[in-house]
Amino acid sequence: SSTPDNSVFTNLESEVRSYSRTWPTVFSSASGSWLRAEDGTEYLDFFAGAGALNYGHNNPVLKSALLDYVASDGITHGLDMSTVAKREFLHSFRRNILEPRGLDYKVQFPGPTGTNSVEAALKLARKVTGRESIVNFTNAFHGMTLGALSVTGNSMKRAGAGVPLVHATPMPFDNYFDGATEDFHWFERVLDDSGSGLNRPAAVIVETVQGEGGVNVARPEWLRGLAALCADRQILLIVDDVQMGCGRTGPFFSFEVAGITPDIVTLSKSIGGYGLPMALTLFKPELDVWSPGEHNGTFRGNNPAFVTATAALDHYWSGDALQRSTLAKGQRIHQIFANLSDQFDGVSTRGRGLVQGLVFDDPGKAVKVCGLAFDEGLLAETSGPSDEVVKLLPPLTITDDELDHGLSILAEATAKICA
Ligand code: PMP
Repeated sequence: SSTPDNSVFTNLESEVRSYSRTWPTVFSSASGSWLRAEDGTEYLDFFAGAGALNYGHNNPVLKSALLDYVASDGITHGLDMSTVAKREFLHSFRRNILEPRGLDYKVQFPGPTGTNSVEAALKLARKVTGRESIVNFTNAFHGMTLGALSVTGNSMKRAGAGVPLVHATPMPFDNYFDGATEDFHWFERVLDDSGSGLNRPAAVIVETVQGEGGVNVARPEWLRGLAALCADRQILLIVDDVQMGCGRTGPFFSFEVAGITPDIVTLSKSIGGYGLPMALTLFKPELDVWSPGEHNGTFRGNNPAFVTATAALDHYWSGDALQRSTLAKGQRIHQIFANLSDQFDGVSTRGRGLVQGLVFDDPGKAVKVCGLAFDEGLLAETSGPSDEVVKLLPPLTITDDELDHGLSILAEATAKICA
């Protein structure tokens, strides 16, 4: 075949960091854990749409549900209309997810993407409490719209965005990063420091594992302490489960590991299951202070995504097989990564379920490892404030053989860079 002309990308695309440039090829099709480039090269996908493809590319169960729906002239754009697809999704979500976990949440469709869900969560917390500020954590990532950006603890992402829309108090809270103690006194003192002009916050927003921030894993005890502190002071606890929800860490909700019930939960990425935009904001029923029409948007309620979401929940979440295999596969990655960190200086590992990080003291090395992996047909991305972490987010449906294949590529690349 003739060499494809890819110059359009360099000529027309902005210099903003984009995955098409990070991975110097043009992709054309995908199925399961594999992407295929236009030149025929196959790539194993350890990135999975940054967590949007937990069930893999073109998952056959979801695909046939979608094809049937389109073939039957199902509603595609429904705004806030009641539709059969929406009703079936809500039933499935209640039956497969909320009821078995004893959770009672109202479901809001805040808009198409994760950042829309965060905006709705922040707005709701402020309306419910009548307070304004939000506490967030260092290295947090919550989205690119100006409210969500205000609680994103990353100055590079916020560069030039001006005065934050939300008064946020960033917490450089060491316990998040595997500290030795459960000491909340410092955090409590900050919250009580009204003498310095800090008003009591409306909410704390937290990821149980920071994905973009570098696979920083909050321990269950820490999460329980945080939840108790919030409950004690009538501060709402928002868990942003956009990336870690839908089974990424094992259980459907990432906070299940701590046995806590957040007041508000954000979900997106893999909830639609097929890579179609969809987001949910969940909140305790007593927090439903919305007036009709108070929070709307043209693309609230993506009906084809309701259909694939329902198929995913019915197929994968009516039992616990996916959770068990996710934890087993996570353990498999952890073992390989632990061996690498024993073998090489300046390499360590952290993660939970199928989000696992290989952490390099020298950030340049993580980027180089991903570059070598690409040359061998593996897609993996870096994360963390200095891109020092190789972050693995394979589809939850990846096979053991595929996982082992990808891990051997990564191990070889690490050996080459660190030897
Ligand atoms: N919250 C978290 C935890 C995320 O990881 C992301 C996306 N990386 C977002 C919010 C924003 O989601 P979206 O890109 O769909 O707006």
